[in-house]
Formats: sequence, C-alpha cells, structure tokens
Amino acid sequence: MINKNLNKLSEQYLFSEIGKIIKSRQNVINLSVGDVKLPLPSAVVEAGKKAAEELKYKQTFRGYPPETGYDFFKRAVISYYNCRGTIIDESEVFASDGIKSDMSLFLNVIEQGKVLLPSPCYPAYIDANILRGNELEFYDGFPPKAPDIIIICSPDNPTGRAMSRIELTEWVAYARKNNSLILYDAAYEAFITNDAPRSIYEIDGARECAVEFCSLSKTAGFTGVRCGYTIVPKECGLNAAWRRVKSCLSNGVSYITQRMAECALTEALSETMSNVKYYADNAAIMAEALSGAEFSGGQNSPYIWLKCGDSYKEFYKLLDEFGLGVTPGIGFGQGGEGYVRINAFCTRDDAVTAAERLKQYSSLR
Ligand code: PLP
Repeated sequence: MINKNLNKLSEQYLFSEIGKIIKSRQNVINLSVGDVKLPLPSAVVEAGKKAAEELKYKQTFRGYPPETGYDFFKRAVISYYNCRGTIIDESEVFASDGIKSDMSLFLNVIEQGKVLLPSPCYPAYIDANILRGNELEFYDGFPPKAPDIIIICSPDNPTGRAMSRIELTEWVAYARKNNSLILYDAAYEAFITNDAPRSIYEIDGARECAVEFCSLSKTAGFTGVRCGYTIVPKECGLNAAWRRVKSCLSNGVSYITQRMAECALTEALSETMSNVKYYADNAAIMAEALSGAEFSGGQNSPYIWLKCGDSYKEFYKLLDEFGLGVTPGIGFGQGGEGYVRINAFCTRDDAVTAAERLKQYSSLR
C-alpha cells in the first residue's frame, strides 16, 4: 500500500536533525539552516495588506487564483529577467510556492529515469527523486552514459560555487547532445556579482534543454511567505505538459502572496537587492576571517564551504568549543565529507562575532 520508495529515504531530514542538536546548546550562533533574518521591506508588506483589503469587497474579491499565476506576477518576473537582458515570454512563467515543492511536482512531467546530481547537493533533490522512483547517479564531470535528467544548482548549495559561463555552456551542449533535460536551480542567482550567468537562459541553446526554478525565498526574504516561479521555455517541449500537470496537482499561489512578490521584484527591487547585499557582505566578512583556509563560496553566494576534516567531528568542535552551529558536509551526501557549510543568513553582529570565532578556529588548525 505505502510507497515503497519511502523506505529508501534517510531517516530524518538533515536540517531538522542538525537544528535539534544546535538548539540543545546555549549561546550558539546558528549558521546552519539557511533561513533569512531581515524583515520584509515595508512596501512589500503594504502590497500584501492592500491585496487582503481587496478581498473584503464584492467587486474586488478573488477566489482560486489561475493555476499558473496571475499575469501581473508573470510580468514582474519577466521584468526582473529583462533587467539582465534575458527575454522570457509570459506563457513560460509559472508561479509556485517555492522551488522545493515545484521541482518535485515537475518530476511528474518526466518519465522515471536516471537523474544526475551533484555530490554534495541540496538534500531535497535526493528525497524527491527517490520518492518518484528515479535512479540516482552522482557526478563529478560528465558521465559517458548520459542521464535523462541533470540537476544543476548555481550558485550551488552547499559549495557556494557559481558556475562560469564556460562550464554552463558545456553542460548545455552535453544535455543537447544526449537529449537530457537540465533542471536548473537558480535559488541564489541574486547573489552573483561577477560575470557568472544568473539564468541558464543566458546560454545559447538552453531554451531547448533546460527548465529553470527560482524563488523569492532567499532573494526577497520570502521563506515564510512562500513564492517562487518556474520557467519552462516553449522550445524544451514540456510547456504544455507542465501546464497540464500544474493544473491538476496545484491550485496555485494566493493573490496576496503574488501581489507581495510583484512588489518585491518591481517597486521594492532596490530594497530587495540591498537585503541580498547585506547577507552577501556577511559572507564576505566571514570569508575574510578564513583567509589561508581552504574554502569555496563567500562571494556570489551566502554560503561558505569550508574544508576541515571529519565533518561531524568538526561540526561538534565548532559547536561546543566555538559556539558556532554549522552544517556537517556529509549531510549533503558522500561528496560533502571533509567539509562543513557555514551560512551567512544572520545578523551583522552575529557575522562579525562568528568571523572572530572562525579566525580562532582556523588559526588553531
Ligand atoms: N534550492 C536550494 C538550492 C536551496 O538551498 C533551497 C533552500 O534552502 C531551496 C531550493 C528551497 O527553496 P524554496 O524556499 O523556494 O522552496
């Protein structure tokens, strides 16, 4: 009766397990779960209030939203892409309540098959694909036997690495040559400050082979509000199928939420981006304290992926001797052993204190 794939999931979701351990200690700066700390810009909250007010009156009341999103929301997403010179059509934008759920819903569009994942990777990819009955393969480069689906996250969680234009071009060419579909997670695109692509559609040919998932969670502090979007270009041949799946498995995103998201991506965009910069600066402060240590991220990303040795041993060391709650790298898969992930979604005071502690930690190694 029960989905037998459930037995293949690891017992606990990484972040719940680590969260409990960190909570059991006192006076710890929690740099583990990547949750935002800054409040929403007041214009965004006002947009939500105004939308709620509209629901009070017969003339402006709204029931079920369109399953794929309101036009005003799609236009806001399009303008957010246009600012960077990437052209998307309204019919290619689908509102979602975030990447985690939409990517797993999207797996219903594709036949079960072989999925190529980075190792280490964001653990939700693994669980969603196991539940769907897909065969997992972890990559380090291009496997000779091509997979059906390739998951790419850039800037990556947990390694903090943003793929260069050249690397991403190679992945797009590989996918096209082998008829694979790329599921591209752009959750952290707003953190990119160098020439790395912020969207896979900056790469020629990507519209034929890639679906892009993005979210306002980290970009606009919406981890609690819940809003994201998925871009399914017409050329990849899955647009109509996704529309069908989306409308049978989801009833869309609330009007209030989409109005708030519209505001975050348009009228309040400069505040949205200055909040992103706040976290990016936190990451830079901590990365500077680690100079001399081996790590990736710290720029173009809110994460620092620190090479340290046995990841659970170093997790406990940082926790109990330095008052820092991080995430053991092994929690992101075998490829994460030997590392810990430090996230910069904290207050500036915590980032500065954490930087001092990280300096001490790394000087004692
Ligand atoms: N994708 C990556 C790579 C993430 O790190 C996270 C959250 O930490 C998510 C997706 C989840 O995004 P959302 O809040 O939109 O579901």
